[in-house]
Amino acid sequence: MRTFSEYLRDMFSGIRSLLSGLSITWKELWTKKVTRQYPENRDTLVISERFRAELVMPHDENNEHACTACGICQINCPNGTINVISRTTETEDGKKKKELDRYVYNLGTCTFCNLCVITCPSDAIVFSNNFENATFTRNKLVKQLNHEGSRLREKKPIKKAGNEAEKDSQTA
Ligand code: SF4
Ligand code: SF4
Repeated sequence: MRTFSEYLRDMFSGIRSLLSGLSITWKELWTKKVTRQYPENRDTLVISERFRAELVMPHDENNEHACTACGICQINCPNGTINVISRTTETEDGKKKKELDRYVYNLGTCTFCNLCVITCPSDAIVFSNNFENATFTRNKLVKQLNHEGSRLREKKPIKKAGNEAEKDSQTA
């Protein structure tokens, strides 16, 4: 059976522990807050450029992209997140040409490993840092990255250096 002195000792020990906890709470009440209040701080929120949130295919002002539909990204994706659907068209000189029909990306299965981006020979895809992709429907995470009516950007002829251009004009 516990003695009265033991009872008092336990009681003071409890009070000491309570005051110790409260002193920390009091101190924290006056320290600078570090918690970010999202989404209230949306206007001032800074997300690192390197943050991989979503795969995108940049298009220029002419609605042109750089994807040649080669399928390398699809082959390198470890979990079948990418589906490159191509079609074959005929050029004016009768040659057959493969071009991108639909570039389908499933954000719901992407592990953001970046393998698709680093293996793309045309630099046609990148990761954006737009992280606000929450949705109630999984189907909405399956996205077509090429815009409606978009097409492959024509490669501009590489400008030759001064001496080479001069030689060409002399031989012509
Ligand atoms: S980041 Fe990785 S998992 Fe996501 S699409 Fe690219 S290769 Fe596939
Ligand atoms: S994104 Fe790049 S690797 Fe993928 S199909 Fe297009 S050109 Fe090929």
